[in-house]
Amino acid sequence: MADILQCDACRLRLTRNNAVLYRGPVPSSLMLVGESPGLQEDQFGKPFVGPSGQVLSRLLARAGVPEESIYFCNVVKCRPPANRNPSEAEIRCCRPWLVEQARLVKPSIIVSLGKTATSALTTERGPMNVLLEHEDLTCTFCKDIPVIPVYHPAYLLRRLDDPASKPILEDTVRRLALAWRRAT
Ligand code: URA
Repeated sequence: MADILQCDACRLRLTRNNAVLYRGPVPSSLMLVGESPGLQEDQFGKPFVGPSGQVLSRLLARAGVPEESIYFCNVVKCRPPANRNPSEAEIRCCRPWLVEQARLVKPSIIVSLGKTATSALTTERGPMNVLLEHEDLTCTFCKDIPVIPVYHPAYLLRRLDDPASKPILEDTVRRLALAWRRAT
């Protein structure tokens, strides 16, 4: 995986500071997959160390999931400029890294954080509220690993203080706890 530093499959290499591969143990029974690194992740070279990571930590703690047991990574390993969404081409270029990560980590369950990760890992398309009708999607490249979708923490971050969003926050905690129970 050290080869990621040499990867020039797409142009994101030209604007990023660090390739952001993963944090967490290898192997791990639970793998959490986000979209792409943000500002802090690009600075420190680790996924989910910024505001989204803080939300995720809170939700994992509420779900009773020990954060140090989880493998965190993203679909795209280099930060898109100005935090734009990664393009389809960038997601395609980065896919071999994700496939290799799943092969090494051997998770029993993958949690996909948001629409980009869910679409990259499964054949499901469409808005997140439709994807969330499922608790058990099939990973396209590791058919024996179920994928549980949840909202992306950046989406939840904007809703933390909104009483109307309490049900989606609680459902996210429930899904994370379910993923952990099934993974262990
Ligand atoms: N958002 C992501 O999808 N991944 C990160 O690592 C940080 C923010």
